[in-house]
Amino acid sequence: MNDFRRLRDRMVSEQLEARGIRDERVLDAMRRVPREEFVREGSRRSAYEDHPLPIDHGQTISQPYIVALTLEAARLTEHDRLLDVGTGSGYAAAVAAELVDRVVSIERHAGLAEAAREVLERLGYPRVHVVVGDGTLGYPDEAPYNAIVAAAAGPVIPQPWVDQLADAGRLIMPVGESRFGQSLIRATRSGTDNLRRENLGAVAFVPLIGEHGVADRNRSHH
Ligand code: SAM
Repeated sequence: MNDFRRLRDRMVSEQLEARGIRDERVLDAMRRVPREEFVREGSRRSAYEDHPLPIDHGQTISQPYIVALTLEAARLTEHDRLLDVGTGSGYAAAVAAELVDRVVSIERHAGLAEAAREVLERLGYPRVHVVVGDGTLGYPDEAPYNAIVAAAAGPVIPQPWVDQLADAGRLIMPVGESRFGQSLIRATRSGTDNLRRENLGAVAFVPLIGEHGVADRNRSHH
């Protein structure tokens, strides 16, 4: 057993099982995906620590527990098609690919998407399709989705996500105006108009920047 394998098993028992993650498929997926491949070279030794780590463009690879929590909350089955908003490093997309049939992962920074594509291909994750774009618009080309999971927080659930969610689909998203005071929301669709919402607890994510999210402060207006 190599060092990373040991660190990974320990992360699953001490950070996930100990905090109440119970879905065996999620726990197994987290035992399989080599998180050290998704972090910067200088962060490999820290890959299994209990916090997010910096990646390029001022973004982060989410804390392992948060990845497990959101994927467990999505109640994924092996037949599902999932939209993952905010590819970042590609780590959560890889874990998701262990759980579902198809992952469409969308990222607004082309450089991050390209790096994620490269590592996912190298590790052998053909079920993941990484696209560049504003994820708040969803990705209609492959809709409907059985689940939509967001790794960035916005003030409201983007309407395109509701429109692209299959019947009985689950949408997991941190909702809140600022970094603090966000709640992880699960919205389950039944029929055309009905969304049942549950609050899964307090979280702190980076902002969801886009048309149906937070305004982009760096965008110039001409
Ligand atoms: N799940 C990622 C991982 O495993 O590395 C963590 C991603 S990070 C916490 C959130 C990502 O969402 C960032 O890479 C950010 O650029 C991206 N993001 C923010 N707003 C977005 C949008 N409207 N569309 C697509 N990606 C967005």
